[in-house]
Amino acid sequence: MNILTIGIIGGGQLGRMLAMAAARLNFKTIVLEPQADCPAAQVCNRQIVAAYDNAAALAELASLCDIVTYEFENVPVGAAEELARTVAVYPPPKALSVSQDRLVEKTFINGCGIRTADFRAVDSQSDLEKALSEFSGKGVLKTRRFGYDGKGQKLFRGESADGAFDVLGGGALILESLVNFEREISVIAARFQDGSVVCYDPAENVHLNGILHTSTVPASISESTASQAVDAAGKILDALDYVGIIGIEFFVLPDGSLVANEIAPRVHNTGHWTEAACAVSQFEQHIRAISALPAADSRRHSDCVMTNLIGDDVDSVPQWLGKSDCVLHLYGKSEARAGRKMGHVTELKGAVKQRS
Ligand code: AMP
Repeated sequence: MNILTIGIIGGGQLGRMLAMAAARLNFKTIVLEPQADCPAAQVCNRQIVAAYDNAAALAELASLCDIVTYEFENVPVGAAEELARTVAVYPPPKALSVSQDRLVEKTFINGCGIRTADFRAVDSQSDLEKALSEFSGKGVLKTRRFGYDGKGQKLFRGESADGAFDVLGGGALILESLVNFEREISVIAARFQDGSVVCYDPAENVHLNGILHTSTVPASISESTASQAVDAAGKILDALDYVGIIGIEFFVLPDGSLVANEIAPRVHNTGHWTEAACAVSQFEQHIRAISALPAADSRRHSDCVMTNLIGDDVDSVPQWLGKSDCVLHLYGKSEARAGRKMGHVTELKGAVKQRS
């Protein structure tokens, strides 16, 4: 097997886990990240310490790597397109431009024949008032760009809209209708260069204060709901001519039908359980897809619950270490700030019997 060098834009925990998966396949990794000693820098072969849009750094990355990938969706699209002129960039830069703006993203998802919450572009206080009255005073106002972990959002359940446009920065916003969901699930899927798609089992996700708390597999959903999620993933991946792992989040309605919430063109927090409960994790599956290696079987061998260790949760590490069937993963961050993802632990809950 050729030894490839893979560039990773972004040096957080996702970049770290990608670099570790690449190393297990004998591949080298070079991380582009402005913060020195970032989580990925501690395990990769080399870090280029520079801004994501630094032209000289991008040219250096392109010259040193066989393939470039990324660990977060806010990579400047121009930087990814510039890189793509001289080196293979996966997932395709188009996936970035679709996922960076919630209005573009929801329009794209609807164009694939998949339902989302109703939505309206909000560019002024009067747009907001009009849209809220169309949604009977209920909805979620979000920044169109750079929102994550529930940041940049305001919930309306009949509250006055007075001043709300400015509270979210007065820029480009979107109002989504309030979805009355029963549970939240996600699908982690990979598309390969020959167009084949593999999906991990849907996870059921619980968020606390807008941040993922747990992912449980299997999700409490019917087979028909699970296959709707897998079908939707295939449509989205094909429409983007995608290569690599994608994470897609859905709301499950009381009748079992799905409403897509968002897509993340990268390995995803709700797929961390795969490193403990599947033979090949989402991280290795991504590295395989972008480097034209064969797809791995994505079936889980165990049921499991993945719990994020956020901020001071990391103090519970000794307890987790003392429990059996727990796979702990820490991210190399020295300071446990509130809301900061410090690590995760996957608790295996029993073997899955059927292996056809
Ligand atoms: P997001 O940043 O879009 O992933 O939203 C964060 C969380 O807010 C989601 O996981 C849901 O729990 C909740 N949420 C977001 N959008 C809606 C919506 N349109 N209706 C109901 N809840 C929502």
